[in-house]
Amino acid sequence: MNTSHHWINGQKISEATSYFDSISPVTGDVLARVPVADKNLLEKAISGAQQAQTAWAALSPMERGRVLRKAADLLREHNQRLAELEVADTGKPIQEADCVDILSGADCLEYYGSIIAGDRGAQIDLGNNFAYTRREPLGVCLGIGAWNYPLQIACWKAAPCLAAGNALIFKPSEMTPLTAPELGPIFKEAGLPDGLFQVVHGDAEVGKALVEHNGICKVSLTGEVNTGKKVMAAAAGSLKKVTFELGGKSPLIIFDDADLNNAVSASMVANFYTQGEICSNGTRVFVQRDCYNAFLEQLTKRTEKLVIGDPMDPATQIGALISEDHLTSVANACEKGVTGGARLVTGGKRASDLKGAFFQPTIFADCEDGMWIMQNEIFGPVMCVTPFDTEDEVIARANDTPYGLAAGVFTRDLARGHRVVHALQAGTCWINNYNITPIEMPFGAYKQSGMGRENGWEALEAYTQVKSVYVELGDVESPYE
Ligand code: NAD
Repeated sequence: MNTSHHWINGQKISEATSYFDSISPVTGDVLARVPVADKNLLEKAISGAQQAQTAWAALSPMERGRVLRKAADLLREHNQRLAELEVADTGKPIQEADCVDILSGADCLEYYGSIIAGDRGAQIDLGNNFAYTRREPLGVCLGIGAWNYPLQIACWKAAPCLAAGNALIFKPSEMTPLTAPELGPIFKEAGLPDGLFQVVHGDAEVGKALVEHNGICKVSLTGEVNTGKKVMAAAAGSLKKVTFELGGKSPLIIFDDADLNNAVSASMVANFYTQGEICSNGTRVFVQRDCYNAFLEQLTKRTEKLVIGDPMDPATQIGALISEDHLTSVANACEKGVTGGARLVTGGKRASDLKGAFFQPTIFADCEDGMWIMQNEIFGPVMCVTPFDTEDEVIARANDTPYGLAAGVFTRDLARGHRVVHALQAGTCWINNYNITPIEMPFGAYKQSGMGRENGWEALEAYTQVKSVYVELGDVESPYE
């Protein structure tokens, strides 16, 4: 059987006192046994990162950026191999993984490798004196990943973190541990000194031990809202900085003047890409009454044509859910949809002709805001469609949620598009598209869906602190004799 490894101080470490299995969501087979980090290994990872970080921070941003850009090129060279490994671990279709997951990680490395040399402090004129600010790294940061975009999440945290002069300890999700350690040799070949990017494996216990460790300065978590609350509480003990990318129940609003074809395309992408296992998905689809029936008709026809099956087949559009347990939770949510009175238009069951955790793309229509399926994140291919009449009504209904990750608006009236988006309580919004996440655009949440931002210039703020320096050019005015 394959044994996976931690990546510590530039080396693979497979030896451990305990291991867990990484299971294929497609076959149920064990893909690899994975070592669990114990206390000694965590100490080794953190002290190695601390030792490496000081010299890394002292390099010029240009020098650090060069390493990241080289890593981006190398990552692209490994795209196919890593995409296949990601498919094995997550069950997502190769037609997505080979053009999104790894390449989006490479884009992120290239972006921060490029912009970091342009980062500037301020010079503050104080008359006879002056002050200046410099943006300094935090030290050793911790990244904790979810299982839906494992390598992309590792890169989205590593790139701004390392560019800013920090070290990163990354703990992948125990559900998908295989690709993150593969980044280690890529960084090494690109010239990143050992110790600056460390990967340690384990579950919530290991994550908690890291969050509580005094050697960690900052935590960036991608995961569930409840995990965010626990991590925030644990980080409070030492007042660590936190960035959270958490769950959502985002609205996608379709006005009756929208291009119907585009609106249907976007709502399918917003619910069925990666089998619906995407945090920002537009799972509450509000459709204006005049185009409600036409929208549902086209949506249903196109959804029923989606190809479910072997994720390694390039024709497959819907792969396997992450696990049997998760499939059960998605199936239970659909049960709640039916018993709660929503109209099941298509799907709602496991794809029983296939072995593995495959679930049919599902559409519920005539949903009401109080229904369980309209209020809770399902994190599977389940779309809830509901009619609306007026702009004010739909804004109020869209905002009536503790979540605030993302939102979308479809309309040909651009003034209305901007007006509605400005009124929506969501950190990432799209007009006439959905789930497009270029690295240049900050990504993050309002309300309980998170705090801080990934990507864009804003992510650098999350991995740096501003030092103000006052410079006296004259004598000290002393109130004392
Ligand atoms: P999860 O919260 O169960 O686990 C996420 C990570 O946190 C894992 O690595 C886990 O081991 C670790 N963890 C769990 N409890 C911990 C604790 N007490 N202390 C420290 N670490 C702990 O989430 P998941 O099931 O892996 O991922 C699905 C969730 O992630 C969904 O809610 C989804 O919306 C969210 N997500 C959000 C984004 C975003 O950018 N907003 C992106 C992807 C996924």
